[in-house]
Amino acid sequence: MTDEQLRQYLSFYRDLGIKTVNRRTVPDSQPGILPEPEPVLSPLPGLHPTDDSLARIREDIGDCKRCRLGEGRKKLVFGSGNEQARLVFVGEGPGADEDEQGLPFVGRAGQLLTQMIEGTARKEGIPLVRADVYICNVVKCRPPENRTPLPDEMETCGQFLFRQLIALRPKAICALGSTAAKALLGTKEGVTRLRGNWHKWRDIPVMVTYHPSYLLRPYNQNAKKEAWEDLKKVLHYVYD
Ligand code: URA
Repeated sequence: MTDEQLRQYLSFYRDLGIKTVNRRTVPDSQPGILPEPEPVLSPLPGLHPTDDSLARIREDIGDCKRCRLGEGRKKLVFGSGNEQARLVFVGEGPGADEDEQGLPFVGRAGQLLTQMIEGTARKEGIPLVRADVYICNVVKCRPPENRTPLPDEMETCGQFLFRQLIALRPKAICALGSTAAKALLGTKEGVTRLRGNWHKWRDIPVMVTYHPSYLLRPYNQNAKKEAWEDLKKVLHYVYD
């Protein structure tokens, strides 16, 4: 991480009101994980990770109107999947289908995500279906016209995403697209630069890859191959 990236990272978390400690070296004993220096986040304010559970986080979110996205939503999309999952996928925010159903990644992008997970697993001989992983988003309510969540919306909802991740304690996280990468890594770096290598959120390895919605666009077909490579890396790391 360059000094400039580190400065951006620290300022992102400062903007979120989260204290950071600038630790330039992180020992790393896991094979295949780059020893990337990361700032270490202090415990989130008011959070007691050992007590926390998804049920309690959901209860704390309640009928959320903490930001403007709460006004326009039909259903809040908390997350779904295996609560003991070793792998968590983090997307950006619900779209129209997710808003209707209250479940993440159930529209076209969701179908592609299912194919990516299950197709890659099958090909690699890993017995894994979508229901074995956990899937959630940076923001829990649909942004109007599917726009990118704004920084204050990410900040407000980010605390719940972070609590979900702490409660789940997965072996790895797969960040889908730049909003998830920004929320987890605090970087403005694009997916093209970040993908393919391991990063970390706290002590959890994070792989960034393309968002399935991006892969659905006909002119981005080359990126599909890269996304499949990223997923292959993640699945082998988590399930071998
Ligand atoms: N896109 C996302 O980022 N999340 C969803 O849940 C659906 C589409």
